[in-house]
Amino acid sequence: MKNLTREDIIEILKSDTQNDALFSYADKIRKQYVGDEIHLRGLIEFSNICKRECKYCGLRCKNKSIERYRMTLEDIILYAKKAVDAGYKTIVLQSGEDEYYSRDIMCKIIEGIKQLNVALTLSCGERSYDDYKAYKDAGADRYLIRIETTDKKLYEKMHPHADFENRIRCLKDLAKLGYEVGTGCLVGLPEQTIESLADDILFFREINADMIGIGPFIPHPQTPLKDAKSGSFNLALKVMALTRILLKNINIPATTAMETITPNGRIIALQSGANVIMPNVSPLEYRSKYEIYPNKTGQKDELIKFRQEIKQKLNSIGRTISSGYGFRSN
Ligand code: SF4
Repeated sequence: MKNLTREDIIEILKSDTQNDALFSYADKIRKQYVGDEIHLRGLIEFSNICKRECKYCGLRCKNKSIERYRMTLEDIILYAKKAVDAGYKTIVLQSGEDEYYSRDIMCKIIEGIKQLNVALTLSCGERSYDDYKAYKDAGADRYLIRIETTDKKLYEKMHPHADFENRIRCLKDLAKLGYEVGTGCLVGLPEQTIESLADDILFFREINADMIGIGPFIPHPQTPLKDAKSGSFNLALKVMALTRILLKNINIPATTAMETITPNGRIIALQSGANVIMPNVSPLEYRSKYEIYPNKTGQKDELIKFRQEIKQKLNSIGRTISSGYGFRSN
C-alpha cells in the first residue's frame, strides 16, 4: 500500500475485500510512527450558540428546540483546571460560531488556561486572520476546523451562506501563523461520492494537516437532513485508515461519532490507525445541550472515573495513556 494514487484510494474505498489488511496496515504505521501511547484531550464545549446553519448540525441557529448556553470566562477556566488536575495535558475549547466571545474575551480565556501549563486547542470556527493571530499570541497551540468535504458544490449545499474559499483561507492562515492545524471530514453526507472522499484524503496530505478527525454522518432529528441515511462506520474507518497510511506521523482521534454509531467503535478506531481520544470534560449540565448529532456518547462520564475506565480499556489492547502534551511527532 505504498505510494497510493487517487485511483488506488478510490478502489480501496469502493471494495471491502481488503478491509482487514487495510486496518492492520494502518495500525502498523501508527505503531511505527506515533507509538502505543494515546493522547487524551479534555474537551470543553463552552457555548452551543451558533450563527450558522449547517444542514447536518443540531446546533444550527434555526433549531429552536434546544436550550442554548454560554459558559462564563471564569467557569471555562475552572473546568479546564479540573481537567488539568485530573491529568489532562491538552484542553480543547469548542463552541458554535458565537460572536459574544470577542477577540478580547477569547484572549483572556486563552491566557487563563495557558497558566495551567497545558497545551491548548481551539475549535471555534471561522475567524479573521487578526483574530487567529491574537489567539496565537495569547498562547493557543492548535486549531481545529474541519473542511467537512472538499467537494465545493456539496460544501455549499450543506453550509447555506457559507463560502468554501473562506474555509480554505482559514486553514491557510492557521498554518501560516504556526498553529498545529486540525481538519477532517464527514463521511456519508447525502450526495457525497467515493471520489470526493478520495479527494478529501489527498487534500489532507496536500495541506500537510497535523490532526485529522473523521466522523460518520449521523442525522439529527431537528435538521433538514433528519430523514437522510446515516453514514457507514466501516467507510469512515477506511477513510481514517487511509489517512494514517498517507500522513503517517499525525494525530488522529478515535471520534465520539464512531463510538456513537457502533458499539466499541472507539477501540476499533484505535486499532485501525487512531491515537487520540477527546473525552468530554464540560460541566454535566451542558453536555446534553451540545448535540451536533443525536445520542452522543460520553454525556454522563465523570472526569476521574472515565479516565480510570479508559485506562483499563487501553491497557487491555496494549496501549497506554501518554503523559506528554501530544504534539505531532517528528
Ligand atoms: S457545524 Fe459548527 S458552524 Fe455549523 S451549525 Fe454546527 S456548530 Fe455551527
